Amino acid sequence: MRKATAGLKPYLVVQDTSVVKLNQNESPYDVPARLKNSVLDRLAKENWNRYPCHPPQQLIEDISRYTGHPQDGIVVGNSSNEIVMSALQAICAPRNRMIVVSPGFPIYPRVGQILGLKIIEVPLKKDFEFDIRAIKTAARNAELVILASPNNPTGTALSVEQIGDLARQAEGIVVIDEAYYEFHQRTALGLLKKHKNLLIIRTLSKAFGLAGARIGYLLAGPEIAQSVEVTKLPFSVGIFQQAVGSLIIRNRKFQRRLILQTVQQRNFVYSELKKIPLIHPIPSRANFILFEIKNRPALEVFNALYQRGVLLRPLDHPKLKNTLRVTIGTPRENTTFLKALKHVMQGP
Ligand code: PMP
Repeated sequence: MRKATAGLKPYLVVQDTSVVKLNQNESPYDVPARLKNSVLDRLAKENWNRYPCHPPQQLIEDISRYTGHPQDGIVVGNSSNEIVMSALQAICAPRNRMIVVSPGFPIYPRVGQILGLKIIEVPLKKDFEFDIRAIKTAARNAELVILASPNNPTGTALSVEQIGDLARQAEGIVVIDEAYYEFHQRTALGLLKKHKNLLIIRTLSKAFGLAGARIGYLLAGPEIAQSVEVTKLPFSVGIFQQAVGSLIIRNRKFQRRLILQTVQQRNFVYSELKKIPLIHPIPSRANFILFEIKNRPALEVFNALYQRGVLLRPLDHPKLKNTLRVTIGTPRENTTFLKALKHVMQGP
């Protein structure tokens, strides 16, 4: 076994669906039955014995129409995590330097470690905002910068201007993960023409409510897109993903109202959290909120909430021992969570 992977454990998350499940930043809204049925109808007509269309042409066309980005700059993968892996394989050689922020999305250093990269962590500021000056300084001496904006687990974001500055000053490639773009409504997409070293990664797992389907995509210049297409394993986007991805993007009108509702609910949950003594929520641009608990270990509160049927996400990071992350659910789920948290915080 390679030494590089020796310390890594399998990536496991509690997936108890019998509770109010607010731990994986999923959409609380399942795909409507009529859309599920039209995907099933379409799949019934496909040849399951044949390999899927590769690259997935129809889905690329639909993503191109949705984003306004040309088809030759789009790569579709089996989740955005797969796109991260393929992009890093295309960009980096072993021992290259990769900048991540900390706390940030743990998949990047994990993939970086697997690929034998040297990972350099730039801490967030005390208020969990990005330390853009420190990131830019580090980026002058690295092959790659990868970060999510809005960031997971903090929900904080860089401005488009800051991303442009970063791309201009970086020595290497800058990858911006816009997994939560639809909740934030700000994108670095307009910078791609000017900054050839910039890549954007997105997913259909969050606002589009398709975490179970596994569909992610890359937006970049045509040369980078082609390199990533080369490192990505062929046929990783199956006939189900192609059918459901296209259908949901074409019918995205119904999602607009749900996204708006989630943003309104996020603001509501934030203001309610602020009213609870000893709870300090961090303002978020995504579909989740990180909050600090001032008087006890987060795990104690996590366990008490779980016993009351609400599942949150404890975070395995030294700076987050006193924090929990809550995904924004339906209005009813959010109220249940807030009621349970108030109760737990009042208890002994
Ligand atoms: N990027 C970020 C920043 C995320 O928080 C998540 C979800 N945890 C993902 C990517 C995962 O996306 P996917 O389901 O497409 O792998």
